[in-house]
Amino acid sequence: MSKKLEEYVVTIPDFPEPGIMFRDITSVIQDPDGLKLAVDGLANLVKDTDFDLIVGPESRGFIFGVPVAYLTGKGFIPVRKKGKLPRETVSQKYDLEYGQAEVEIHVDAIKPGQKVVIVDDLIATGGSAEAAVKLVEQLGGKVVKMIFVMELAGLKGREKLKDYDVESLIVYE
Ligand code: 5GP
Repeated sequence: MSKKLEEYVVTIPDFPEPGIMFRDITSVIQDPDGLKLAVDGLANLVKDTDFDLIVGPESRGFIFGVPVAYLTGKGFIPVRKKGKLPRETVSQKYDLEYGQAEVEIHVDAIKPGQKVVIVDDLIATGGSAEAAVKLVEQLGGKVVKMIFVMELAGLKGREKLKDYDVESLIVYE
């Protein structure tokens, strides 16, 4: 019998800090069957969604966002850490457990009214996904769906993003 997607995820205790159970996706994507399950699974989540663009946050959002954009025949827009994008940007600060982070998107990446799907590997508190939403909305785009390979349900990212359509392939309680 073939393996399920969750069987490709390796969980590393105490990484990057004591007490964190890190869900690793490198073990998923290094296996062609794992990669296919993840990318096809994400594409399947938007098969009935009307949208124009995929937006993916640095860096694991790139890994999954680009193949989903390719499969669905859409363009891919990167959200990057401050200072990395070469053209004019808008930026958004958000809170981390300790301190703040800032992410950016090119101003010409999204036209007002365009429908956007946000793709990332994992949603935990929802802070980084919310920052991506705010960037899209600063440019007049509309987030029609947010899709993730994994969701850490206990961290309640879904509550932070309750006004949006959020779906994940694997949910950890
Ligand atoms: P949030 O902003 O929702 O709290 O955290 C989600 C972000 O942190 C995602 O961009 C994700 O890549 C990263 N992240 C947090 N915890 C994990 C984890 O256990 N595994 C992986 N692969 N990424 C994580």
